[in-house]
Amino acid sequence: MIFDYAPAPESRSVVRLRENYDLFIDGEFTPGKDGDQMSTVNPADETELARFTVAGASDVDRAVAAARRAYDTVWSRMAGAERGKYLFRIARVIQERSRELAVLESLDNGKPIKETRDVDLPLVAAHFFYYAGWADKLAHAGLGPDPRPLGVAAQVIPWNFPLLMLAWKVAPALATGNTVVLKPAETTPLTALVFAQICQEADLPPGVVNIVTGAGETGRALVEHPGADKVAFTGSTEVGRQIARSVAGSDKRLTLELGGKGANIVYDDAAVDQAVEGVVSGIFFNQGHVCCAGSRLLVQESIADELLPRLKDRIAKLRLGDPLDKNTDIGAINSAAQLRRIRELTDSGAEEGVERWSPSCDLPPSGYWFAPTVLTGVSQAHRVAREEIFGPVLSVLTFRTPEEAVTKANNTPYGLSAGVWTEKGSRMLWTAERLRAGVIWSNTFNKFDPTSPFGGYKESGYGREGGRHGLEAYLG
Ligand code: NAP
Ligand code: MG
Repeated sequence: MIFDYAPAPESRSVVRLRENYDLFIDGEFTPGKDGDQMSTVNPADETELARFTVAGASDVDRAVAAARRAYDTVWSRMAGAERGKYLFRIARVIQERSRELAVLESLDNGKPIKETRDVDLPLVAAHFFYYAGWADKLAHAGLGPDPRPLGVAAQVIPWNFPLLMLAWKVAPALATGNTVVLKPAETTPLTALVFAQICQEADLPPGVVNIVTGAGETGRALVEHPGADKVAFTGSTEVGRQIARSVAGSDKRLTLELGGKGANIVYDDAAVDQAVEGVVSGIFFNQGHVCCAGSRLLVQESIADELLPRLKDRIAKLRLGDPLDKNTDIGAINSAAQLRRIRELTDSGAEEGVERWSPSCDLPPSGYWFAPTVLTGVSQAHRVAREEIFGPVLSVLTFRTPEEAVTKANNTPYGLSAGVWTEKGSRMLWTAERLRAGVIWSNTFNKFDPTSPFGGYKESGYGREGGRHGLEAYLG
């Protein structure tokens, strides 16, 4: 039976957009010194949502100075239990405003409301609640009797989970007594700017959180600022490398969370329908704009003929379109630049001889869209097996033995995530022990929780975010 879905759009009226957004420095919204602005668009229809300020070097300077002042005079001296109260308050305001934030995130990023509402926002609040609980217990975190904050944290985040990446960075930094200057991505600055309003609403002392918007140059000025004691970056390996170089030789502490090319291994004894669901959510969740996406499916040869048709049937039922429609599974690609990158890499696969399949699917007339795509006949040498596509494109490889599965899974410069699908516990453990990946899911995928550390091996970066381990990155 084929079901038709009537559109069920979430209302935009909960969001009150300003025409222009200033920088957030020392507890106030303040214009940039140079007066430069950029705009952010809704990737689902390319309309402009708002204009925002490009922070220049002197604005970054002001923000770092405000963070330093707040650190020295207020935040590092405050009892942990008091800091915790602010974090609990922020968490509660996020919950109260979660519908507004979910709609705004979908507008600015292009991801489905189903995800912002049910995944991003609950996790954002959970991160603040979780780290609020640590603020007065740092002496019991296993990091010594009196662990000390580092100072001013310079934080740069990407566009794929804008508010969630902010929460991953800001919550542990504040809980441990550090102050923050954060730069959101240029295509998704809006939820960070509403977060600045939330800091005001929660009466957070001025300068504890500062938000500087702008492009890569603003990010560079921030991470290279001599007043930063700690740099935390999530984004591409290329920019991560530049930052590592610029920080080398200074006494700044650095954590990097970079790309991935995660393997999702399906053994012949796996529950096939469950594995199909996991493979689908592993690569199509958030349009595949996920550093830990299961972008390489490794399927045991003996069940490939059974699994692939079922996988395609399932993919053909995914609904692509308006991110604000509650039925939507796949939203818009975040930017024209990202769409170009996805097209270029996927086309390279076709040129190298891999077979390309997408379900028939009508793409909306404006906006940035890419149909879910499966590439088969992929070998390890193909670019689509080696490079991160960061889009809704699954590369399928096969294997015969568990040893071959592990060798192929580990044959990547990255090491962020992996999945293992099998009904046999011993096989799952055998495989997990041999995979070089920071997070390994078994019979599930893309499960996140603030109590669980997250981070990579090799070119996926270093340092852990989340859980007790996440405190260590902000304590000396
Ligand atoms: P990116 O350039 O690394 O951007 C990440 C953040 O760093 C953004 O806020 C960006 O600002 C900023 N930035 C850019 N150049 C900088 C510099 N020299 N110094 C300091 N900060 C700088 O990533 P992207 O161009 O948006 O995406 C490119 C690829 O990166 C994707 O295709 C994907 O493969 C990977 N990626 C990975 C993740 C992840 O979660 N690990 C997230 C996003 C992207 P602007 O936004 O203004 O450029
Ligand atoms: Mg945008």
